Amino acid sequence: MNYIVFDLEFNMFFKFKEGENANPALKSEIIQIGAVKLNEKLETIGKFDSIIKPLIYKRINPYVKKKTMINTRQASQGTPFVQAIQNFSSWIGEDSVLCSWGHDDILGLRDNCLFFDFNQLSFDKFINIQQVYMKYEGLAKQPSLESAVEGLGIEKTTPFHDAFSDAFYTSEIFIKVFNFSSGAIINWQKVQIDNEIKIRELKSVLDQVTIVCPQCSKLIDKDKEVSKTKKYFAFGYCAVCRLHIRHVSRIVNNSGEYNIISNNSIYNTEEETE
Ligand SMILES: [Zn+2]
Repeated sequence: MNYIVFDLEFNMFFKFKEGENANPALKSEIIQIGAVKLNEKLETIGKFDSIIKPLIYKRINPYVKKKTMINTRQASQGTPFVQAIQNFSSWIGEDSVLCSWGHDDILGLRDNCLFFDFNQLSFDKFINIQQVYMKYEGLAKQPSLESAVEGLGIEKTTPFHDAFSDAFYTSEIFIKVFNFSSGAIINWQKVQIDNEIKIRELKSVLDQVTIVCPQCSKLIDKDKEVSKTKKYFAFGYCAVCRLHIRHVSRIVNNSGEYNIISNNSIYNTEEETE
């Protein structure tokens, strides 16, 4: 079994011209894939580095350019995603575990695969190296890749925010902290689908929560409501206490469990503070 330690860089929407809009079906488009392949003894046996030509967000967002040093011209000369992901997928080979720093890159990888209709990549085995590192160091807060590199005394030879360079640093961390008996490999695909089902269930409840006055605990009619993917806002007025109430409910993940957290608070409008 091999370990594929990968890192991605993304481009996203930027309003260069009036009237331009983001594509809601793909918020972050991959513009670079970098990866290091390790064998079961954690020896490096391969490298992958590819610039991807964006098809949705063709001009590089200025913030992305500043961070990644990839400009629009370089990106436009890259490999189209479908070709690049095919190359990446065959380079990965059979019986491999995908590994990355945190959760965002695997999520972004799957989003891009879904958007471009590529279904040959398996998301069944995944290791979140950030989590392994946090466990190793006993950290509660998510550390940056750079701070982990510093924490482990790994020499900083190349700049961060280059997909290959970040994949290389992540693999160095992995080699230092991975414990084979730790059971760090998860079925990411299954966890992801379970989470999405759970979020959908909670979402249907979220829009129906009741709002109460924090002062007298009386149920209040909703005057106005705003519903988002994982958040819900409602507003009302308690006629007994003569208070404006703002309600916020959100779906949060607390150490792996999804729940709804609700809060009713009093808010003062200008008119009320007479
Ligand atoms: Zn009240």
